[in-house]
Amino acid sequence: MAFTVVAFLCFVGARNMVDGPATPLGYRLACALVLALLVMAIPRTGSTWTFGAIGVAYSLVLVVGLALNVSGVEQPLLWVLPAMVVIPVCAAPLWLTPLHFFVGSALFYGAAFALLLGGQRAHDVDIVVWMWILAIGLPTSIVFHFGFYRFRRNHFLLESQLAQLAATDPLTGLQNRRAFVKQGERRLEIMTPEERVSAIFLDIDSFKSLNDRFGHAIGDHALYQVAQVLMEETSADDSVSRIGGEEFAVLLRDGLAGALALAERLRGAIAAIERPDGYLTASFGVAEHRSGESIMVLLDRADEALLRAKHSGRNRVCAERALPIEPLHMLAGDAFAEDGALVRQHRWEDYFLTSHFQPLYSLSHQKQVGFEALLRGEENDGTLVPPVVLFAPKPSSDEGALDRASHAVHLANARKSLPGDAWLFLNILPATFVAEGYADQLAMIVRAVGLEPERVILEILESHGGSVDDMSRAAALYREHGFLIAVDDFGAGQSNLDRLLRIRPDIVKLDGELIRATGHGTEQPILPKLVSLLHLAGMLVVVEGVETTEELILAVESNVDFAQGFLLGRPAAEIAPPDSVHRRIDDAFDVIAQGRAHQYALFESEVEPYRTALRRAADALIAGGSMGEAFAFLATFERCISCFILDDSGRQVGLEVRGPAWSADGASLQPVANPRDARWDHRPYFRNAVLLPGVAVASNPYLSLASGRPCVAVTLAVQVAAERSVIGVELDWSVVGLPWPAGE
Ligand code: GH3
Ligand code: MG
Ligand code: MG
Repeated sequence: MAFTVVAFLCFVGARNMVDGPATPLGYRLACALVLALLVMAIPRTGSTWTFGAIGVAYSLVLVVGLALNVSGVEQPLLWVLPAMVVIPVCAAPLWLTPLHFFVGSALFYGAAFALLLGGQRAHDVDIVVWMWILAIGLPTSIVFHFGFYRFRRNHFLLESQLAQLAATDPLTGLQNRRAFVKQGERRLEIMTPEERVSAIFLDIDSFKSLNDRFGHAIGDHALYQVAQVLMEETSADDSVSRIGGEEFAVLLRDGLAGALALAERLRGAIAAIERPDGYLTASFGVAEHRSGESIMVLLDRADEALLRAKHSGRNRVCAERALPIEPLHMLAGDAFAEDGALVRQHRWEDYFLTSHFQPLYSLSHQKQVGFEALLRGEENDGTLVPPVVLFAPKPSSDEGALDRASHAVHLANARKSLPGDAWLFLNILPATFVAEGYADQLAMIVRAVGLEPERVILEILESHGGSVDDMSRAAALYREHGFLIAVDDFGAGQSNLDRLLRIRPDIVKLDGELIRATGHGTEQPILPKLVSLLHLAGMLVVVEGVETTEELILAVESNVDFAQGFLLGRPAAEIAPPDSVHRRIDDAFDVIAQGRAHQYALFESEVEPYRTALRRAADALIAGGSMGEAFAFLATFERCISCFILDDSGRQVGLEVRGPAWSADGASLQPVANPRDARWDHRPYFRNAVLLPGVAVASNPYLSLASGRPCVAVTLAVQVAAERSVIGVELDWSVVGLPWPAGE
């Protein structure tokens, strides 16, 4: 082929040596250039069709070039005769099939003769021309063509087969990952700004068990069946691929909603494929392409959604965390549609979404300070949909959509009924909380309903989704808008202290169970200490689930800031003015005040005999008695674990004198069980005694390292033989029913 271009250039050169009016050289050289480009395009052809088309174009350009070259000469036929013999011979190997060959040759001669037959020639010249063409040119090119035919054809077919194989998964016949990614990249490159593209990623559930229990052949057959379903359910425009193992991907020209619908159809179709022990199922992740994003990032986001589908129970479709902005706009628009008569409900699947509000009380102020908005579903006739139905994990759809819809519904409802100075608590899923752009959107909706973000407290629910890093970054964005942040259900599930310290919420809501949690070996609640720890970290504390007067009393006693629960107010559609709740809280304060006085008296009467005996022991020591003699009486008291003397720096002097409550079973704390190894001047019982020399002071209960039990120490600072010492007795306080001093 390239040779014919060279031959054509020789013709052009020869023509320039002859006189006579010639076509401008530029035209003829342009033909040579087009011929050269067509030759260069041959290796890039991907199909026999383009290959043939290049051959036909080549023949026609060559004929035009020859005709231009010979125009103006006296005997044009003589000039082109060699070309008409040689060119079909040279071009013969180009034709892929006999059909190509005959059509190409016929076109070549037809065009050439049409151009050249015009002039008058002698009869014998015609005979010579036809003889050359028919006897030499045509037979030689036929021989050449068929000589190369088989070789060329096999080569070409092999090449295209190889390309096909390299792009196909042999088991299912689908595109493999490489081809899919390549095609996806091309698709994203040429997409217009209005066009939308989404990816679906799916993974067959529990596929390993199918292989392990029934063999790989059954597994392979299942993969084939899934591939068939994917081919049947998708359109020719979608790319479908087996990405690897039992993972497949679909790239389609549609937005998130369309992709979710397709994924749901695929899920249904796959769930109808039988496996020996039931039916196959698959989990799906769906993501929509964002502008500028690469195919790999898009697939990663779909894969992340797939992971959530797996975590939330398999056989379901999860959407990416991206925000379909439209539903929010739509909802916000909805809420103001009938200005004045606000639309308080939003259609959701088979029911309407509506809000119920539950009050939160400040215990010190004894008044409502805010309302938690809780989502409810209502049937057409107004009956409530049970929360288990409303919040049941659905196999399909975006779990965040309901969350976002709930915010719009609550805000629309709160606009009407929220008292002027109250907070609105909105629950938010971690995945929604960290979703890109949601802080801005929520602020926009809040302002649109006439509230300020400062009035809204976002309660991050206890659930997976969103790393702690993401959440602490997102929290900063919400704070910029003025939102307050709360962490819900602290003490349950995913919550931990690290999460709390990194998110740094303004408010911590304690899991209701923590109200009832008590210390080991005592029935003392741990809530007060927990609250003081959270206060130390700069967080206000809410207890939820306050149902009984005892729980309310404990909440007040624990110094909790806010409380919520049926005792204080049930969730209701209307925000009602508080009734007698403040009286209840006031009563709780009274009970605590009385209880405190009572506890104090009980505690004092319990420790008083020990105080007296300790003072006697001190007198005996000062009078020069030995430790054994001095503590002999005190060591007979029922709760006495041991009596001890500490020196000025808090180190034990001599051996302790053991009492009836001494026990050697503190085995689990063995390495720290010996009090003689340690110094105790940091303990309150030492410091308090030193502060009040000569006074026998009783400590608050603490956990004894020696016994692992709650203890109370009674201590007294005395001067024994010119040495300042602290003498004391440690009392076993682990018996249930003993009075505990209230508060610190
Ligand atoms: P999950 O529901 O979490 O996706 O569990 P799973 O068992 O489906 O997932 P896992 O990734 O543990 O198992 C995938 C299995 O797929 C492991 C491998 O043996 C099997 N597998 C991968 N490629 C093929 C294949 O070409 N044919 C067959 N029969 N099995 C394959
Ligand atoms: Mg799997
Ligand atoms: Mg897998």
